[in-house]
Amino acid sequence: MSTGLTQYTEGKSILLVPEESLTSNVPPMQPAFFNPRGVESRDLSIIVYQTFYNQVKKSLQFLDILCGIGARGIRVAKETDIEKIYLNDINPNAIEIAKKNAEMNHVIGKCFFSNDYAEHFLASSRKEGNYFDIIDVDPFGTPTPFIEDVVRTVRRNGMISLTATDTPVLCGIHEKTALRKYYGRPLRTEYCHEIGLRLLYSALAFAAARYDKGIKPIFCHSTRHYLRVYAIIIEGAEEGDKCLEEIGYIGHCSMCHDRIRLYENSGVCRKCGQKLHVAGPLWVGKIFEKNFVKAMEDTAKKLGYKKYLRMINLAYIEADGPISYHLVSVVCDRLQITTPAIDRVVEKLRDKGYFATRTILNSKGIRTDAPINVIEEILLKLAKI
Ligand SMILES: [Zn+2]
Repeated sequence: MSTGLTQYTEGKSILLVPEESLTSNVPPMQPAFFNPRGVESRDLSIIVYQTFYNQVKKSLQFLDILCGIGARGIRVAKETDIEKIYLNDINPNAIEIAKKNAEMNHVIGKCFFSNDYAEHFLASSRKEGNYFDIIDVDPFGTPTPFIEDVVRTVRRNGMISLTATDTPVLCGIHEKTALRKYYGRPLRTEYCHEIGLRLLYSALAFAAARYDKGIKPIFCHSTRHYLRVYAIIIEGAEEGDKCLEEIGYIGHCSMCHDRIRLYENSGVCRKCGQKLHVAGPLWVGKIFEKNFVKAMEDTAKKLGYKKYLRMINLAYIEADGPISYHLVSVVCDRLQITTPAIDRVVEKLRDKGYFATRTILNSKGIRTDAPINVIEEILLKLAKI
């Protein structure tokens, strides 16, 4: 069993991981799954969970429902002040390795292990009256099959974090699958990752509303091959009602590239009159909670994760921004001009009084409320300098 394992350092933890997972492009499922490329996801989750702990200031129970070798859970045990860590996985090898990892990192006393189906573990926990303050769902593919059970097993004002690795589905390559899994239509645009995140949030909001709960999105990101969202779950039918008001559509014009929030699933372009392509139903409300993201900055500094400060600071600025972002290179290609420095374009848009910032969702993107014709004018002027 121990053969084929090697020691690997991530964050402040030393993890026993399958050797092959460090050398293979697609980490193997046996003896247990571990993806070293998920390090940003895990680093950021440490920052988010510790920030949540700092805000609620009470003893917390964290559950990693699909824990694999326990990389996230062990790191939460080692790096945050969260007191009880539950790790569950259906693969017995994974749980055996997770236990060794807990021992190696001297956190075995605060970790609880279970070798069960996620749905079964969640149902059993409810039966025993054991609910969790934070539940993480990090599956292969879509998290939607687990969302209802997770919503039912999170404590009042608790947090749910979801990872989706079915990015081609959420980003519009497999539209019918997206309709089945997320009940919403994706769109293949330059801001498809944001649409994917909004579909994830709406899938969570629909499930929460079914149980008379609402969601408050606090942070999300799109990194490598996955999308990840964090939300607080708030009790109350009226909270569910409020959330459903944040479900709508995004209309995209393929002619002039304008985009707009819609209240119905069809519309025409406000600029050129073309029929719009429509994404949704999806979450059209805020995707970052400004105060929470601000607090993440302090946590990141204290925990020594300064490499994420720029990203966190950008998310803080973006929190006030409009739906979707533009890719400067895409607009420039259309205009057949060279792409200028993105910061320069942001500066020019701000000079004209528009909201403008770079975005954490795409390193070449700009989130702005300026109409497309203004963006084009600025780019044309910059191309002449
Ligand atoms: Zn148009």
